Amino acid sequence: MVKVKNLHNTGDRKPKNYTSWKEFWKAKKGYWPNDCSAYDCNGPADVGAHVKKVDSYDNKWYIVPLCSGCNKRTDTFEVSEGRLVPVNDND
Ligand SMILES: [Zn+2]
Repeated sequence: MVKVKNLHNTGDRKPKNYTSWKEFWKAKKGYWPNDCSAYDCNGPADVGAHVKKVDSYDNKWYIVPLCSGCNKRTDTFEVSEGRLVPVNDND
């Protein structure tokens, strides 16, 4: 598990080659999960959300499948590291 928090004000940032960040994540991973990636949540995975790791030197942005509720969270929550797909400048 890795602690992350939502990045806000990322609505203007669209993937260059995909219609949404959900499609971006699906293309990188080859599937889309049923469940929200937040460890303490049982909601459905609705969106590809922008997050960043907390308590880490790693300042990269990542996309992770979250429910619409968790996409609005302002607290820190835990997700499985395998659910994180990094976003680069050319994505
Ligand atoms: Zn959730």
